[in-house]
Amino acid sequence: SSIFAAVEMAPRDPILGLTESFNADTRPTKVNLGVGVYYDDNGKIPLLAAVKAAEKARLEAAPPRGYQPIEGPATYTQAVQNLLFGAGSDLIAAGRVVTAQGIGGTGALRIGADFLKRLNPGATVYISDPSWENHRALFEAAGFPVETYPYYDAATRGVDFAGMKAKLLSLPAGSVILLHACCHNPTGADLSDAQWEEVVAACREKGLVPFLDMAYQGFADGIDQDAVAVRLFSASGLQFFVSSSFSKSFSLYGERVGALSIVTASKEESSRVLSQVKRVIRTNYSNPQIHGAAIVATVLSSPELRAQWESELAGMRDRIRAMRTGLVEKLAAKGVAQDFSFVVKQRGMFSYTGLSADQVAVLQKDFGIYAVSTGRICLAALNAKNIDYVADGIAQVLK
Ligand code: PMP
Repeated sequence: SSIFAAVEMAPRDPILGLTESFNADTRPTKVNLGVGVYYDDNGKIPLLAAVKAAEKARLEAAPPRGYQPIEGPATYTQAVQNLLFGAGSDLIAAGRVVTAQGIGGTGALRIGADFLKRLNPGATVYISDPSWENHRALFEAAGFPVETYPYYDAATRGVDFAGMKAKLLSLPAGSVILLHACCHNPTGADLSDAQWEEVVAACREKGLVPFLDMAYQGFADGIDQDAVAVRLFSASGLQFFVSSSFSKSFSLYGERVGALSIVTASKEESSRVLSQVKRVIRTNYSNPQIHGAAIVATVLSSPELRAQWESELAGMRDRIRAMRTGLVEKLAAKGVAQDFSFVVKQRGMFSYTGLSADQVAVLQKDFGIYAVSTGRICLAALNAKNIDYVADGIAQVLK
């Protein structure tokens, strides 16, 4: 018999499964709010003009395709550090930040997880309840037990901060705390600056290992504003991890451009930590791909392209905000009594709408409007053409 005879079918990814059903739907009015991708007002994934210009220059220069350094090129890793920690960061100047290119934010998380497993094999990883669904699977795949800390409060559609803080203060030293640095996926509910300060204090008091996941820098309030959690941890003197991604902020999803940054206690420690991170990478995929990181490094180091990127990023951010406000106004105009103003307060691409799994199923069946069964919708999938239809569908299922 086959050596694969006993292989069981793995469960289907719930969000990709939703997209398959959406693709098979023949209704022309169908809308997919289940995705985690930014679409422009024409319903297309944008290719940013700054990216296009950098790609054109690169094509013309026709550079050779040798291997990259294991941790990626310095032009890229330095650009990542400046974006996360601020160009004038003391930590960068002191050599206390180690950065390695990652295969998207996911790859960066995995490098961090594998390094942490060697460093602290007995640790438990704590993720928010709820969290991006791959967080649990990824840290479990790296060999960690994964548990949750309270996060979303369905009653306020905000953060249960008292619950979160109490949990953090109850954990043993060395526990790894995965934190969404901004634009929480899936809820859209973020911590305030004052709450971040309390999280930093709790990590210090209990000796926790903070791991910040920054997948949406620039999608809430702006590049520096969205880095507040990274900046507060930087000022704390603690050691911590940051995974970051350019999938959304550069609209480079399929190029897989991300980075893992680790803040150490000293320059000397940094070189030892980097050597171990390189070992993780070397035994996994040897060294990273060139193209996406080269484009990001070029854009971030050219004043003109950087200004163009910042304005395009602001355009994406503003359009999502306009869709949030528009949806709330349209729901009210259609006579929905329930207060949806929380949608405007939530940040980033997503909103936990409070729609039940049954209501989501009716939206899909009767209207061809696809959302995640948890009630998560992607605001960036709304546009001038479909927002009325979506507001109408939601108003109908709420009747
Ligand atoms: N973390 C979070 C919170 C995310 O939402 C995502 C992407 N959906 C990622 C990490 C991974 O990003 P990437 O596509 O760059 O791997």
